[in-house]
Amino acid sequence: MVRVDGVDVSGLCDAGLRSRLGEIGRAESRLAAMKADVLGELARRRGNANAEHTAKETLSVSGRAVRSDVKAAVAMGELDATREALADGRVPAGHAQLIARAAGDAPVDDVFLAERAQHEGHDEFRRTVARHVAEVSRNDGASLLERQRQQRSARVFTSRDNGMVVINGQFDPVTGARLASVIAATERQLYHHEDPESRPTPVQRTADAIAKLICEPDAQRPTGTSLLVFADYDMVNHRLADTRFADGTPIPISEIARIAVDAQILPAIFDDATGDLRMGRSRRTATELQRMALALRDEGCIGCGTHPDHCRSHHIDFWHRGGPTDYANLVLVCHGCHEKIHQDGFTVEPHRTRPGRFRLQPPDEPAGDPETASRAPPP
Ligand SMILES: [Zn+2]
Repeated sequence: MVRVDGVDVSGLCDAGLRSRLGEIGRAESRLAAMKADVLGELARRRGNANAEHTAKETLSVSGRAVRSDVKAAVAMGELDATREALADGRVPAGHAQLIARAAGDAPVDDVFLAERAQHEGHDEFRRTVARHVAEVSRNDGASLLERQRQQRSARVFTSRDNGMVVINGQFDPVTGARLASVIAATERQLYHHEDPESRPTPVQRTADAIAKLICEPDAQRPTGTSLLVFADYDMVNHRLADTRFADGTPIPISEIARIAVDAQILPAIFDDATGDLRMGRSRRTATELQRMALALRDEGCIGCGTHPDHCRSHHIDFWHRGGPTDYANLVLVCHGCHEKIHQDGFTVEPHRTRPGRFRLQPPDEPAGDPETASRAPPP
């Protein structure tokens, strides 16, 4: 039964509002399950194109949205555990969509993913799915990467709505990570030359960086354009394992050799005991090595998952209160989450399920993990 009764929200306390959001989330999941059932049945009877047309007319949505909905619905037909968890409201609709999309790329383990989807926030689950797809893909994800390469596309066109020129493209994860690291480094370079009184917005700066890179190809390349690639060393088999980018996206090990040909690879071995990651009070900003180690541990902003390239290191025990510039006292945060800490009283707390990691907590949040608590049925 999908039903959220109307209520005067101004009369609810904070806990009441939070529980109401939880109800809405569960109802959205159930609706998504119903929609997948209907679209899947339509597609089975009359084909995908027909189902898309019917949905587009009936729901008055864009062709693009309806195409991905029908594709997900068809995939969901094979994913019993995910479908069931979605229908029960245990798995958020966005998580189920990630599973359905992944099922198109590899023979995923539906039961395993549906289980994890109930306990992980969106960013964490996105990484779980990516790792899982790489694991179950044949030849260490190389065939998946090849398929993604085939799907590369880009368009440059003038919008009929407002006359703006639009650049729209999608790239495989390896090419994409290289592009993103060069764009991010150019953004940092532009940032340092800006007048602090009149800074552009982050999206304006990204646009400026892309224009500069394309229109001034001879301009000096900014420093820090190196692509971070992480791997674990498998002591038993004496080889690299779990090769991945800074945000946790897995990459086939065979791809490392290709990247190494024209990219600058900075090998760094992190060992807490060496002391290299402990700068104490000798400097205020993180070293390059610390930044890499933080990217490896935090995989992005601890508040919202923003890519490490767009994060700064924040002292958990504030610098002006004597906090040291040590790996253990630093976390990665984006600009917005950094402001939440300094202006809105958010605090950095140990992650409840991932030892050694951190998360951001609002000043008056009750006990209990907000990510899982919000999905739990009301008492
Ligand atoms: Zn953030």
